[in-house]
Amino acid sequence: MLRWLRGLRAAPQIPEAAWQATLAAYPFLAARPPEELQRLRELAARFLQDKEFHGALGFAITDEVALSIAAQAVLPVLHLPGDLAWYDDFVGIVVAPEEVSTPRVAIDEAGVVHEYDEAIIGEARERGPVMLSWPHVQEGGLPADGAILNVVIHEFAHKIDMRDGEVDGCPPLPAGFAGQATRSQARAHWRRTLEPAYDAFREQAIVAERFGGEPPWLDGYAASSLGEFFAVACEAYFVDPRRFAREFGTLAPLFDAFFRPGLDPA
Ligand SMILES: [Zn+2]
Repeated sequence: MLRWLRGLRAAPQIPEAAWQATLAAYPFLAARPPEELQRLRELAARFLQDKEFHGALGFAITDEVALSIAAQAVLPVLHLPGDLAWYDDFVGIVVAPEEVSTPRVAIDEAGVVHEYDEAIIGEARERGPVMLSWPHVQEGGLPADGAILNVVIHEFAHKIDMRDGEVDGCPPLPAGFAGQATRSQARAHWRRTLEPAYDAFREQAIVAERFGGEPPWLDGYAASSLGEFFAVACEAYFVDPRRFAREFGTLAPLFDAFFRPGLDPA
């Protein structure tokens, strides 16, 4: 009963001044069409109602921090059926004042175990919280000389990808997706489209690193796995859709079909 009532409780309105400040700080949000912005604002308010923000290492969560994250996090699910249900496997969002050092263990090809610390600016765990470094969240609003870095969209793209239990660059797809009759055919279609784009990106990144070729548009980190390629590509798709369509001619229609079902291309 209580739960049912809570579900009905309307999310509080985001105050106009705070909303305008968020759009000014993240111009790629402000550039969305007016009807999308209205929906973005409503969804961000519901997101703020559903999620719990925690400051790490003494970081204080302000309205600016929470709203900056909410407004960007809901963009990928804006047109997805079920919208915020894509994020219902977790409640906590941990915000740190800087990048966070986290212990890692890796086993190399010779079977030697390496333990080391990695500095991370964000992390998404399956059925667990999302961690974000605040200065890097803020950088998401300032694409310098065409480079894209948007840690919020990156981590929430991982959340969407991992809904089916795997971080493999393929989110769960419905039957009928892109004209594919079954879910497994949809998945095969997704991989047939994503993998060649990933291979081409990897090759360009390797040639740039080893032989001084022209570096690819997106962060070379995208070359580390299909899951990272998907998350980095999502950053670009949402932050600079026009250039994304030029650079990734095969991925843009695929992403449109998933993120904007039934709508005109971005
Ligand atoms: Zn990642």
